Amino acid sequence: MNKCVSREDFERIGIVEFRRSARARRLSIYLSPHQPVKVILPWHIPFETAYQFVMKKQAWIQRHQVKLHSLKAADTYKGDYPLVTRNYQVNLIPATSMPIRIALENNVISIYQPSEMAITHPDIQAALKMGLVAAWRREAHQHLPERVTKFAQLGGFRYKNVFIKNLKSRWGSCSTHLNINLNLHLMRLPDELIDYVIWHELVHTQIPYHGAQFWNELQRWDRNVTGKRHIFRELARAGFLANVFMTYEQFWHRCTLKE
Ligand SMILES: [Zn+2]
Repeated sequence: MNKCVSREDFERIGIVEFRRSARARRLSIYLSPHQPVKVILPWHIPFETAYQFVMKKQAWIQRHQVKLHSLKAADTYKGDYPLVTRNYQVNLIPATSMPIRIALENNVISIYQPSEMAITHPDIQAALKMGLVAAWRREAHQHLPERVTKFAQLGGFRYKNVFIKNLKSRWGSCSTHLNINLNLHLMRLPDELIDYVIWHELVHTQIPYHGAQFWNELQRWDRNVTGKRHIFRELARAGFLANVFMTYEQFWHRCTLKE
């Protein structure tokens, strides 16, 4: 844990915590939604330098605080950006009466929204989630088993079945019976991250545990294991799986703020 050396109240950006780190090489500013701004100081940088740095960067910090604030609100969809999957787009259609209906056809997820319900109504939010999950499930069935077959042939891995599941905390798993479970939420990620998870589970068919041998084998099939593990850690920290309305682009933006 980094030691907090000072908390200062800045006029434009609110509380800023200054923390010392033995490992940090550069002065950096961290922003996360609804938390004080954190400034990490390497040992060799005097507090006064860091303070002046924040003073100069106030406008920049403020701009990003506004963006973060709007991302934080993204677990409720307000219709302010289009909801799209790889093949489908959400279309909210005004309806005169209950109940809410959801239909998937011709690359459209139609949600019939009764006039007495605002878009933020929990039932509409639930319908939006159901529609998205149904679309991702279809896409997952189209894309994932085929990909697993191809990679297994390429790498000489054997497995029994691929199951597509709506999982809350994991991207994939491999059972001792060599069944591979893949999360339908993978369809929210770019191909290279999906491929990483597939290779990861295929390697588990031979090596169940995450030891050096496992990572070395995985590295043979995916050249950027370190980079991708980092992204998956960040996805977990951002609560990406739990927040179905967060797109990968929004997540990525949120990630790159922490410069
Ligand atoms: Zn694993």
